[in-house]
Amino acid sequence: MIKVAKFGGSSVADAEQFKKVKQIVQSDPARKFIVVSAAGRRNPADNKITDLLYLVCAHLQYHVDEIPLLEDVKQRFVSIAHELNLKYPIEEKFNEFENNIKNYSPEYIVSRGEYFTGQLLAEYLGLSFVDAAEVIRFHRSGTVSKTKTLHNIHELAKKTGPFLLPGFYGATPDKEIRLFDRGGGDITGSLVARAIGVDLYENWTDVSGFLSADPRIVDNPRPILRITFDEMRELSYMGASVLHEESIFPVREVGIPIVIKNTNDPFAPGTIISDDPMNASMEHLITGIAGKKNFLSVNVKKNHMSTAVGTVRKVLSIFELYGVSVEHIPTGIDSFGIVVHASDVHDCLYDIVGDIQDEVQPDEVKVVDKFALVSIVGRNISRHVGTSGRIFTALGRAGINIRLIMQNSEEISIIVGVDDSDFENAIRTIYNAFANELVEDEASDER
Ligand code: ASP
Repeated sequence: MIKVAKFGGSSVADAEQFKKVKQIVQSDPARKFIVVSAAGRRNPADNKITDLLYLVCAHLQYHVDEIPLLEDVKQRFVSIAHELNLKYPIEEKFNEFENNIKNYSPEYIVSRGEYFTGQLLAEYLGLSFVDAAEVIRFHRSGTVSKTKTLHNIHELAKKTGPFLLPGFYGATPDKEIRLFDRGGGDITGSLVARAIGVDLYENWTDVSGFLSADPRIVDNPRPILRITFDEMRELSYMGASVLHEESIFPVREVGIPIVIKNTNDPFAPGTIISDDPMNASMEHLITGIAGKKNFLSVNVKKNHMSTAVGTVRKVLSIFELYGVSVEHIPTGIDSFGIVVHASDVHDCLYDIVGDIQDEVQPDEVKVVDKFALVSIVGRNISRHVGTSGRIFTALGRAGINIRLIMQNSEEISIIVGVDDSDFENAIRTIYNAFANELVEDEASDER
């Protein structure tokens, strides 16, 4: 068994967190390859090193003195090294970086968060440090070159055995540093897992995996023990984000499961993300409920639309023209709605409505705003007749007006639109109606 363990910023925020990481890594010999983020927040009022480094770049851009900020960053690293008695000459190396700061690109500056955290953790864990610039290959355009990167990591592992790699950055063939999006250390971890062909990709963070609902809305929501990649996409899209979305692709393609674990509570089971049916005779009917507020629908009515061709396309191309991403398109016979995030259209809504009037001469265009979407996600929903009926009954009994109903085509989610003001109540109502309900897992019979 071989595992990649990726530790997020909060897992390495200070010397105490480094100690927890060491215990975790040493308690399982399968944890041979480690990926690490830059030291994160030590408490809610603290700053992530990555944020401070972005701020350093802004100071340089606007000619504001950046030295005090850099000194803060240095102190974070120095105190970790000092408390753990590390030999890595962090002061010397950081001073060198600081003295040359004006010669570096913003990407290089920001990547030093991961670089220095990685140097310190590699020494502390007794692992060899590999600079991500040597193996994570980016195209000049800024996208990652997957084939080259996988090849590089594979060759490296063959040659050197276990290693520690800082996440979040890589380099172009001309050695210019490039970054993934924020939170992109998860992608590095996934690429390493895929390249080495490990059995499990562990993603260590500060929560014990996904919860079946937002704990700010539902008291003590049940943790999700197992989730499929598609379910995770649905829930993350609706705001329940634990993992960088892009990070699932490299491992999913080859069937490597991901487990989300909590560095501060390592014995909690966490959440396994996998498409393989696991050995469970009973499963939850609903995996999770998530949602977002502030949607808006532009409803277009055009009599005899059902026999005319091209109306929806014309309207959609108007949204495209304004660069607005369309979330859903509920349709009727002679009408349809275009559902978008209200914030995406706040300065072009009138122009869009005007263009629709000019382009398709509708009988009516109406804007319905201030509604929320709640997604009820579950791989078992499709096999259980009556789930949607029960959702609607529960919402009806609670006096919640349903403004929109959609079912995802794979039948793993049912989405309802409610007024923004009913959002929390709708989630609680659906959760209480059956989020804890168990059903027979057919997959376990098939084996
Ligand atoms: N340090 C980077 C960030 O804060 C990347 C990561 O943590 O994955 O976004």
